Amino acid sequence: MKAAVFNPGRKATDPFLQIRDVPRPQCQPGYIVIKVIACGVCRTDLHIVEQDLPTIQPELIPGHQIVGEVVEGATAELPLGTRVGVSWMGGVDGDCFYCLNGKENLCDNPVFTGYSINGGYAEYALARSDFAYPLPSGLDDLHVAPLLCAGIIGFRSLRVAGVSQGERVGLFGFGSSASLAIAVLKSWKCEVYVVTRGEAHRQRAASLGATWVGAEDDKPPVALDRAITFAPSGKVVIGALASLRKGGVVAINAIHLDQMPAFDYDTLLWGEREIRSVANMTRQDARDFLQIAHDLRIQPRVKAFALDDANKAVLAVKEETESGSTVIVP
Ligand SMILES: [Zn+2]
Ligand SMILES: [Zn+2]
Repeated sequence: MKAAVFNPGRKATDPFLQIRDVPRPQCQPGYIVIKVIACGVCRTDLHIVEQDLPTIQPELIPGHQIVGEVVEGATAELPLGTRVGVSWMGGVDGDCFYCLNGKENLCDNPVFTGYSINGGYAEYALARSDFAYPLPSGLDDLHVAPLLCAGIIGFRSLRVAGVSQGERVGLFGFGSSASLAIAVLKSWKCEVYVVTRGEAHRQRAASLGATWVGAEDDKPPVALDRAITFAPSGKVVIGALASLRKGGVVAINAIHLDQMPAFDYDTLLWGEREIRSVANMTRQDARDFLQIAHDLRIQPRVKAFALDDANKAVLAVKEETESGSTVIVP
């Protein structure tokens, strides 16, 4: 099969991914083989190929927002031909402290799709059948792909931030994840304050119903109950913290930050303000968000690239040339 393969030993001048033929994955008990229809490109994929995240596999097919059809390993829940989605969380051990306490997103022995195992930048992918989600009809293949990480983890960020109905919520950075989270916040009657660089992102936020939109160094005109940061930048976290009321919460939706700058405790954190990180997702987050996305008819803006152009797709995420989501179609 054809796949886009990351080789960590590549020369700096080589593209991130090599498009070439590799063996099709073999089905194993407890797994399904999926014929990939579309695979979203996430900022985490960029962190993997730029090695901001430690390299685990000597050769890897990235991609963890997989939409496809079950072609092998069918089960009663997932008959042959079922359209399924696979996300970042590709498996857990099920018996560590975290798994036994409802926090499988923090599992001690996790499997990450497209990072610790091969993902979906390919014609076929292997996935654990208990980590594949049947996808609601009504969302087409291309548009459902970005929901599978950007959407689910954006939604988890709202939970981690503790957002309640009608609150004032800041979104710092406005890429794929934030543009999906805003639809959920609007349905919860929240006021949404967006701080982001790039005129295109600001326009997009305004068109999706943001109460107020500002540039990178602007401060929202009101104190926020909650803030979620999406940019991989510690400076943005400090900006979010400075926008909170007493008792407010910042949730950091980033697997990697450049650094966390020193900041003034007395004015920024005291007053029971909180900083929390958002790590991975549970299967319940996935099921809940996919249902909400279906009910709200959340429709991401999508730019599609052929598998042959996987490098261009990754660069589009790096350069933030798209204000929506980027998807690879094998
Ligand atoms: Zn576990
Ligand atoms: Zn992701």
